[in-house]
Amino acid sequence: MKRMHKRRTECTRWSTDLPPVVHRTLEKLKQEGRSMQVLFANDFEFEILDEFGKKWVVDFRYHTYGCGAWQLSGLQCKHDMASLSHKRYHDGSSEPVQFVHALLKKEAYTLTYQPVIHPILDQRTWLAIPNHKIVPSIVKTKLG
Ligand SMILES: [Zn+2]
Repeated sequence: MKRMHKRRTECTRWSTDLPPVVHRTLEKLKQEGRSMQVLFANDFEFEILDEFGKKWVVDFRYHTYGCGAWQLSGLQCKHDMASLSHKRYHDGSSEPVQFVHALLKKEAYTLTYQPVIHPILDQRTWLAIPNHKIVPSIVKTKLG
């Protein structure tokens, strides 16, 4: 009950549409993505050359991303962030937040902690039921 209330109220103070952990991770990935070389094939397909000279392919139309990190975690990897940064630079519309999986966003968090666990009175205030005896359940032992 206490934890639910704490988490329900703390998310109202978040400044972004993402939980702080996800937001920090996204910012870190943006920084890591800046060292990548991005080559445009068209507005949706990119070839990414990372710091080790390895090539990755990102296609935003079909949500295919060479390394597979995005599909697994729901959060972009540094390769995707590099292509998103370049795409945003050119078309001005692609915010990285819109590509984060919905389960990692503030809305999902608030829905998780929205239900309330209602408090109950102390056991001493409960009504006593006369002639009511609690007996243990009957245990059957199996043969063998
Ligand atoms: Zn990647």
